[in-house]
Order: sequence, then C-alpha cells, then structure tokens
Amino acid sequence: MPVSYSLGAHEPLAHRLRTGNAATDERQRYAEEVSDAALDRAVAIGADTVHIACYKGFGLEHEKDTIARAADFAARARKRDLHVSIYVQGAPVYYETFLAETPEAADWLVTNQFGQHVPWGFQVFRRYMCLSAPGFIEYQQKMIRTVVDAVGPDDVFMDNVSWNPPPNDCHCPCCQRDFRRHLERTFGDRLEDETGIASLDHVEIPRTDPFFYPPDSFRLIRDPIHQESVRFRVQSLRRYLQAMYDTVKSIDAKMTFGCNAGCDHFRVNTPYTSGQWIEDIDAATDHWSLEEFAFRPRVEPDGSVVSKARINKVAEFYGRTIGRGMWGEATDDDRRVTIGEALTFARGRIGGIGNLAAPKGYFDGIAPTLKWARGLQEKIAAGRIVAPVASLRLLASQAFVRFAPMHYGCMTEQALLEGHVPFLIATDAIFDRLDEFSVVVMPNMPALSDRQVELLRRFVQRGGGLLLIGQSATTDERLRVRTNHPFADAFAPDALDSLLEMGPPHFVPRVDVSRLTHTIHGELGSGKVAWLPTLTPTSTVQWQRDPYFPFRIVLPEEVRPPAEATELIQLVKAVAPWPFPVEVEAPRHVMAEYRRDDDRLYVHLVNLSTDAAARDVALHVNEPVAGEATVHPMDGKAFSVQPRAAGQGWRIDLPLLDRYALVEIAVK
Ligand SMILES: [Zn+2]
Repeated sequence: MPVSYSLGAHEPLAHRLRTGNAATDERQRYAEEVSDAALDRAVAIGADTVHIACYKGFGLEHEKDTIARAADFAARARKRDLHVSIYVQGAPVYYETFLAETPEAADWLVTNQFGQHVPWGFQVFRRYMCLSAPGFIEYQQKMIRTVVDAVGPDDVFMDNVSWNPPPNDCHCPCCQRDFRRHLERTFGDRLEDETGIASLDHVEIPRTDPFFYPPDSFRLIRDPIHQESVRFRVQSLRRYLQAMYDTVKSIDAKMTFGCNAGCDHFRVNTPYTSGQWIEDIDAATDHWSLEEFAFRPRVEPDGSVVSKARINKVAEFYGRTIGRGMWGEATDDDRRVTIGEALTFARGRIGGIGNLAAPKGYFDGIAPTLKWARGLQEKIAAGRIVAPVASLRLLASQAFVRFAPMHYGCMTEQALLEGHVPFLIATDAIFDRLDEFSVVVMPNMPALSDRQVELLRRFVQRGGGLLLIGQSATTDERLRVRTNHPFADAFAPDALDSLLEMGPPHFVPRVDVSRLTHTIHGELGSGKVAWLPTLTPTSTVQWQRDPYFPFRIVLPEEVRPPAEATELIQLVKAVAPWPFPVEVEAPRHVMAEYRRDDDRLYVHLVNLSTDAAARDVALHVNEPVAGEATVHPMDGKAFSVQPRAAGQGWRIDLPLLDRYALVEIAVK
C-alpha cells in the first residue's frame, strides 16, 4: 500500500452561492479547481487521488453542468494516472430545485413528530429525505448510475447519510410501518415478556415533550421500545447504505463506495442522534471518514495532548486503514505533525491534504516530507498490528446511557494513548473475535447481553485479562440490573456485597459502584480480573450544560486522561497474561503504534509537540532481538542503534525524537 493523499473540492458553485460560502472571485476559484494547472500540481506533489464535486442534491437536471464538469475533469485526471473520487449527496436535498424537478419527492421528505420537514441545520434551504422511502432510494440509485456513467470514477463518496435527533427523526407512514415490523422481528412471541404489552397495533415511533423532557435529557433509555427505536434508525441507515453500495458494485465490482460516518462519533451518542453506528456503517461500505472536529493532532498550551488516533484505532479493529486528512493545519509544522500521525496510525494513508485551488505555496513546505515518506512507504505500511489490548465501545451502553460511557471511553482511550499502550478500540463485533486480544478494558460499559457475558467469561477463564471500570457489566443489554454481577465469583465472596441497593422511587435493585472504595482484584479460571471503581476527570466537566443542552457531547477539553491514568495502565499490565512485545518510555505527547511481521517489529513514534524535540525516548523489547535496530527519522537519514540487554529484555535508546521516526527491530 503506497503512502497516499488526495487533493479535492466537494462543493458545487450553486451550493457556495446559496450558502453564502463564497469569495468575491468564487467563479474564478471554481474554474481554477478543475484547471490543468490544478491537476499538474496534484501530480507534482505526488497525490494519487483527486476529489471532485459531482452531485450535491439540487436535482440531477439542475446539476447537469456540475456532472459534465466532473466528467471533463476526470478524463484529464485519468490521463495523469490519478484516481478520481466523486462527491455525491446522501440524505438532504435542496428542496426548491429538487421538488421542481421531481414533484413526487414531496412524499419522500422526513416528517418529524410535529409533521414538519427537517432542515439541514442553519442551511434552511436543504431538507432531509427519508432514508427508508422507496422512491428516494430508487432516485439515489438512478443518480449513482447516471453520474458513474457520465464520469467513470474509481470511487463514489456519499456525504450526509444521516437521520436527525428526535423530535426530528422520521415519523412518516413508511417509517411507522417499518418500525412496527422491526419490533415484530425483534420481539416475536416474547413481546409481552419483554415489553409488558401484548400488541403492537397502536405503537408509534416515540414522541417526546420537546420543552420539559427533551429526548436527550433522558439520563437512561430503559423503555425497550424506545431502545429499539434507536436500533431501528441504525439498521435502516445501514440498509440504505447497503442499497447504495450494491448499486455501485453492480456497475463495477472494482469501484469503491465510501461515506461520511459522522461528526465527533466518539464524543456524541450518534446512534441516538443520527442513527450512525460505526460498526454498521463499516459493514456497508469500502471506506468511511469521520469528522472529528477539534481533533487536529497537537499539544495545547496547557500541555493537553490532542490526537486523531481514535479513528484509526477503531478502523484497524475492522481491518481498515482510514486517512484522516488535514483540518485547520495552519503552518508547515502543524502539517508535519498531522503527516507524522498518519504515518504512525494510518500506514501512510494521509487523506485529503488540500484544496484543488489551494493558495499559492500551500504545499511547498511539506513537499519534501511527502517525498521522504514515499521513499519509505513499504516499511511504513509493513506488518500487522500489535494490539493485545481492546478498549470497548458497545452500542447498547453508548446509545442507552446518556453520557458516562462516552466520557469514560474518551478518558480511557486518552490514558492508553498517552501511556503508549498497544491497543485498539473495539465495538460489539469483538465478542466473536476475543481470541485476538489478551486484555479487554470496559470503560463504564454497563450493558452486556447474556451471550456477551458468556463469551467474556470464557475469554477470562482461558487466560484473558479483564479490567472493569465504573458500572461495567452491571446490567443486561436492556439496562436491567443484574442482581448477581457476572464476575462476582472472580472476587472475594463478600467483595461486592455492599453494592446492591434498593430504594425509591421504583424499588428496583441498583448497583452503586461508587460504594467500592478501592480497586479490587480477582481471578477466574486462568485469567485475571480487576475492577477500578471510578475515573476522575482532570478537566472541568461542564455539567451545567446538561439539563437543557440536547445531546450532551464530550467536549474536546474533556478528552483528557483521568486522575487514575497511571493506575489504569498498571492494571491493564497486571491483568495481561504476558508482557507486551514492546513498551515505549516517552513523554505523553509522543504517540506510538506497533506492527510486526515474521522477523521484524515496527515501532512508529510521533511527537505531537511543535515546541521542542522529545527527549529520553526508550523502547523496551520483551523478546530476543537479532542485531541492530534501524531508526528512520522524518526528513532525515536512517541510522542504527545497538540494543542493550536490560532486565528480561532489550533496551533501545533514542536520544532525540524531532517529529516522527520508524524504528525497525529485527527479532528472532
Ligand atoms: Zn420516514
């Protein structure tokens, strides 16, 4: 896989004019983007892909010129051996032009709980279409066939595949019917046992009081039918994506299909707000991107470390390599930090690095770095991931518990990143793949199904390590309290006795983990279990926004390691059945990723600070090394380091890490 990056522009002129996102010389810029000069510049800096606006949702007739422009551009790009990715629209349309062309589409619009249509945020001239409306799906399939036929791209990228948060979720007759069918399929003859009601005849997609009880002021979603409305949105979005994917593949099996999987996915309850859940999106696409706003890799003035690695930590779990692109990198130094993080975590897939009509000189400063990276591309992409630790993000916990699982997930991942722990972020699919990991960390994930409990217990019994944090594993997948904790037998007989309480208003048992005053340790079969009762935020959590701010998100400044970060990492190592192959000792603003093939370990290191080189970086290799290690520093010449025997293993010292280095270690 080569080091790759792209240049692009995805907004057609009509969008720029209607949104007002236009310069006084916008038409000139628009022409410059598709000029031969823009293509030549892409070739000159070694880009392998160009993106181009193709269909934005104004209507196929209205966008004839945009499509023709993309086709002409694509033909000239292909002559230069550039791949062409086209931008097409997912859910929202520009209703003024769209409905004029396709009047019957009035029936395909999302209808919210008040019977109104739903605008795209402040762009009130755009309205969301129902992703389940058969007419809209057919239109979109026709759109794909039309633009692919005209342009002949290598890739189709679809933006804004999204539902909206209640009360703006879709309540159209089609969705109501599909929802009842979903409930029938889900509950079958267990309907009354699970929900307390015997008939679905009068069940509707939940409506909420928008003023006194706005939907996301619900701390917990316990009503099984309300819970299923979330899964229903996730699954219907996936079906829509699958229809688009199948359409692309029916034209050309080699053509790829990707989508925007959402914004701030790891900080918002996206299943509830937009029906977007990364595991389902991954299953119906060849690739996806995430707009993790505010996550340009950097070190803040107060020393806080900001990384985009989460995207790759979950992508790698699905066996994917996702380029994250540049977003707001103002200086060459900032751009090199981002390139360094992409080399570290994305095997050199950098993503979009600039606009086709970028300001003069934009690429000059990074061109030598890109050239250097291409020279090392085989080693940068080499090896399979070394990640014995999995930190969990589970759908039921994230979707039905309002805030703590997201916040604990963020804090835990940040501690693991800054502690250089070899880990991935795993979703529910891990329960079929537990043998790929040796430690599972549950950052306040209360909801586990019986099957998940059984698989996780077997994992520990066979020697796996488990770190429970907060309320983990205290309920089933519907948030019904487990009065006997599934790992109670791993701990001392009375260790959990004080946790169960029962009180008003419902007098249903509750597990109160805050009554655990310290970490407890246990064993089950051959494996170890530890339970860390709480994580203490080291930033101010802005709870005051909570009661009335819909869809509480984890703010960027709240993504900090917890006060217990050191203990958390010690616990991960304590429950691990064997030591990690390599451990990195470095300042916490150095990020590390680990890969290996049969006779080599590859350690990627990136220093996110633009202030100074990182000093005193050391690698501890816990297996026999075979000769010298080779260090490939960014923009520099490779050099050798002699490993020294230290303790049970070997130590490799790097006196200075300027920006990025790949350390290649031969092992026996
Ligand atoms: Zn609908």
